[in-house]
Amino acid sequence: MKTEVLRKEEVGRAAAVIKNGGLVAMPTETVYGLAADALNGQAVARIFQAKGRPMDNPLIVHIAELSQIEALVRAFPPKARLLAERFWPGPLTMILPKSDNIPDEVSAGLDTVAIRCPADATARELIRLSAPLAAPSANLSGSPSPTTVQHVIQDMDGRIDAIIDGGDCCVGVESTVITLAADPPRLLRPGGITLEQLREAIGEVILDEAVLHPLKNGQQAASPGMKYKHYAPKANVILLEGSEKAFRDFVNAHDDGQTAVLCYEEDIPYLTVPYLVLGKAEDYAEQANHLFAVLRQADEKGYQTVYTHCPRTEGVGLAVYNRMIRAAGFEVMKLV
Ligand code: AMP
Ligand code: MG
Repeated sequence: MKTEVLRKEEVGRAAAVIKNGGLVAMPTETVYGLAADALNGQAVARIFQAKGRPMDNPLIVHIAELSQIEALVRAFPPKARLLAERFWPGPLTMILPKSDNIPDEVSAGLDTVAIRCPADATARELIRLSAPLAAPSANLSGSPSPTTVQHVIQDMDGRIDAIIDGGDCCVGVESTVITLAADPPRLLRPGGITLEQLREAIGEVILDEAVLHPLKNGQQAASPGMKYKHYAPKANVILLEGSEKAFRDFVNAHDDGQTAVLCYEEDIPYLTVPYLVLGKAEDYAEQANHLFAVLRQADEKGYQTVYTHCPRTEGVGLAVYNRMIRAAGFEVMKLV
């Protein structure tokens, strides 16, 4: 299949592809999404094929206006309305009881559906011109999510109908996922909207255990996506916990020609080992924004081992930690 790369101005052509049951990679503020008409089960099934995504991992439905939600959910509780008013359009996905209009392919057989209204103007225009769009990240399943059009081309060229080039994504990690099908609501995946912001808006929000810890044997994932090894480059990623000095000493002592460090800007003057920069130590939003691109760069350069700081878990740092710990297969080394 030939994959067309379209300019933002050609969104009308992309909408025609969607209406024909085709697949279009679209920019969003979080990461690039791989979109199909959410109400067309056959089109949605093609997303799973193109990505190699396990069929039991449900998709997020993207809408352009709050009014579109009525046809998609059975219930829209007051807390969900509050969150929508406060954070949409934006990087927040809400899980709600699904209506009968949602094909099983979208919800992977669950009785809930994930809904988000993206902030990206091109994504919303595409939805307006076509339909609510089911869209996971536009990467091959298991590899780091795409935050530039080049990442999408690397993974999806020849596998999908079209890609809209919308430049680089500004958040850089996937949306925050909260379920309102449970009370109190529960945070299933951290992202650009923080746990602190959610609690400030609606009060109690439980942090699901799978955000920080591996699932125990036999434990069911509240969010099926959390059970897969995810966001992982080919290199072996290891998180290091300890002081800045211990970190720098350790990595400098492990320069074997096949090892690199994902570091903070502040580390640079002290490093003698190859490095890729995540951002400033206290700027979690910047780290989130660079995370997937530097993981891909580490692979392009062929590093076997990648050491990085164990991120802090406050604000957007929680999203960085959640992705890093999965990229590392939950491997944290304590430095003394
Ligand atoms: P992706 O679109 O690849 O970023 O993945 C979407 C995430 O939302 C995955 O972790 C899914 O498992 C999760 N998700 C989507 N729909 C539901 C749902 N109905 N219930 C729980 N988690 C969901
Ligand atoms: Mg994904």
